[in-house]
Amino acid sequence: MNGHFAGVGEQATPADFEHGVQIVDQDKIFNENLPAYLQLEGVIRAGFNYHLISVFGSQSTGKSTLLNYLFGTHFGVMSEQERRQTTKGIWMSKNKKEHAQGSQKMAENILVMDVEGTDGRERGEDQDFERKSALFALATSEVLIVNIWEHQVGLYQGANMGLLKTVFEVNLQLFLKDTKSVPRSLLFFVIRDSLGTTPLANLRQTLIQDLERIWTGLSKPQGLEKSRIQDYFDFAFVALPHKILQPEKFEQEVQKLGTRFREGYKDPKRAGLMDEQSEPLLLPEYHRRIPADGFPMYAKGVWEQIDSNKDLDLPTQQELLAQFRCDEIMKEVLVPFDAVIVPLEEQQAQGVAAGKLTTLPKLGKMMAGARQVLIASFVEAASRYHKGVYKRKQTELEDKVDGRLKALFQGQMTAAHKSGINDFSEAVTGAVKAGQKKAGSYDFHKIVQSEKEKALKRFDSEAQASVVSGAPWSDYKQQLNLYRKELDEVSGRLRKEEMRRLATRSERWVRAKLDESVGLEFNKLGSGRAGSGAPAEGQKPATERDLWDRIWNVFTDTVSHAESRFTDRARSFDASPDEVEVGLWRLRRKSWGALRGKIDEEMMEGNLLLKLRENFEDKFRYDDEGVPRIWRPTDDIEGLYTRARESTLELIPLLARFRLSQTSSPPPLDAWIGEPPSDVTAADEEDLQPIGGVDEEEGKTLEDEMTILSDGKAQDLSTRFKKTADGVYVEAKRSAIGGMTQ
Ligand code: GDP
Ligand code: MG
Repeated sequence: MNGHFAGVGEQATPADFEHGVQIVDQDKIFNENLPAYLQLEGVIRAGFNYHLISVFGSQSTGKSTLLNYLFGTHFGVMSEQERRQTTKGIWMSKNKKEHAQGSQKMAENILVMDVEGTDGRERGEDQDFERKSALFALATSEVLIVNIWEHQVGLYQGANMGLLKTVFEVNLQLFLKDTKSVPRSLLFFVIRDSLGTTPLANLRQTLIQDLERIWTGLSKPQGLEKSRIQDYFDFAFVALPHKILQPEKFEQEVQKLGTRFREGYKDPKRAGLMDEQSEPLLLPEYHRRIPADGFPMYAKGVWEQIDSNKDLDLPTQQELLAQFRCDEIMKEVLVPFDAVIVPLEEQQAQGVAAGKLTTLPKLGKMMAGARQVLIASFVEAASRYHKGVYKRKQTELEDKVDGRLKALFQGQMTAAHKSGINDFSEAVTGAVKAGQKKAGSYDFHKIVQSEKEKALKRFDSEAQASVVSGAPWSDYKQQLNLYRKELDEVSGRLRKEEMRRLATRSERWVRAKLDESVGLEFNKLGSGRAGSGAPAEGQKPATERDLWDRIWNVFTDTVSHAESRFTDRARSFDASPDEVEVGLWRLRRKSWGALRGKIDEEMMEGNLLLKLRENFEDKFRYDDEGVPRIWRPTDDIEGLYTRARESTLELIPLLARFRLSQTSSPPPLDAWIGEPPSDVTAADEEDLQPIGGVDEEEGKTLEDEMTILSDGKAQDLSTRFKKTADGVYVEAKRSAIGGMTQ
């Protein structure tokens, strides 16, 4: 089983770790399966709640045996027969024992490292590995168990002392980098095969003297010349009976020893030296503060730095580890975050692409929840790492997710804005339509006010539901202001539309009125004698003479009525005086167009000819009392005919020009329409017909505008009328003769 592991990608199984995990093999290669092992042992998520203990000492001094007894591990031990090194490289195993309960209970998650025996017997000249593994153990372990035969105590030249010299040297080398970054360690001397004849206090005394001697003999780096060994290490000592000779006692003592691998605090009175045989060994100050999930990576980095003979720089290692792990943790915490946020982002993007801007319900709650979980899980996992790096990465992570959340929020505000404006505009238009359908009367101003209020309320509640409280980017005051502004703009536009509708209604009303009243005036022409009193000889009857005056009056009255109604309605929905003025100006012009159109209709040749004929017949065929004439041969048919014909013919020049009888000149159309208001826009003028004498640049005079029939047309009309009249005359003549023959 030694050194054989599942390849990358294969799932490691407990069988692979029967003897623990060989974290560094005999070729000094670091094992990639360490994370899998820690995972399997349930340590990887333990945070700081784990402990690292190393053992070293000369080979074949029962180190592996001791660990197996103490921790229930299965490190390979040398069989009693062959005396050959079994532990190669560095092995690790989790504590399998639970010594005692209650206050004596062992600490959780103790990881034990069994370091290759180190007197170089098997590795020959390879002192290199000894040094490297010592450095590695020192950099990672809280407690270094130094395993030593009792009979070796005091043998200063013994192999163990050589190893300790290495440990101290290495330790000083570490301190060169940063005195604060290397925590204290506990050197725990386990004296094996103790006969019990020499008291432990004496053994301790001897060992301490030796250690101090080694320390004094070390060449210390600059600035550390005066340092004492106790500045860096705590010491504890225990003596164990001979395992072979006193197996029961051995086991008993080991059992007792196991209970000391529990967490505790140092008695300040006995700082540095643990005398008491039941004191806890695992003190907080020994902990390396590398989170369990970062340990494999950290250990690997440390080992590789050691193995490549680089100066071991633990602070840098810790920073690198922190960076790497924080990045990994970031990725991990982003998974559940993305599960919530990505669908929202996609939904929003689809909405934008489809031009359909719907708001996402409960966005604020979802964003706040996802963010809170993300940050909390990041803090939980990452805060154990190097503070500077962790803080920086947290800011990085916050910036990253806040950027996305902000974009979502703003997208949401845009959607709320656009759909709000849209809904508002549709609601107003709909209400107006409904009002038109029902009674035709509705209060546009009220509709706009109430819809605006609703739109603002809706926007506010949508914004409220999208806010992440405490996030500086989820302040929406500015958006609300923009929204309010656009609502006002849209209201303005809708009001303009309403003005147009009002104008159209007014124009239609004017047109209908004129159709009726002007038509009536023209119909009066059909009767030659209607109107007040009989006209004096040679004079046109009042109805004919005053035709244009009456049309003008009826026209101006009608328009003025429409104007006052228009003004009232426009004011009711807050149209500005300028807008009203423009509306009235347009109404006057359009009304004039309507009148002009009505006149033209009446003046169509057929219509007019019919009217003239009626006018003529009325004069010719009826007497002054309105009684139809029965022609007799004695009647002055010709005289009557000539008078009636001439009278009707005189109508033609009268009709040809729109003139007021009083002044014999055209009505003051230009003054009546008035100057264009200063606010008039191109759009306002777009659908307006030019009016002669009003729009002078059109090259058409007022006279032109008032010319109803051209001279040619009038001439033509006269000729055709005469022919018609002649026909009537012939018929009269005939009937007179016919009456005689009867
Ligand atoms: P390691 O090389 O230091 O790990 O030593 P091992 O645990 O492999 O043990 C080496 C030999 O020492 C084995 O044959 C053990 O049976 C024996 N051994 C183990 N513990 C003791 C002990 O407490 N006293 C003595 N005298 N022998 C022991
Ligand atoms: Mg061993």
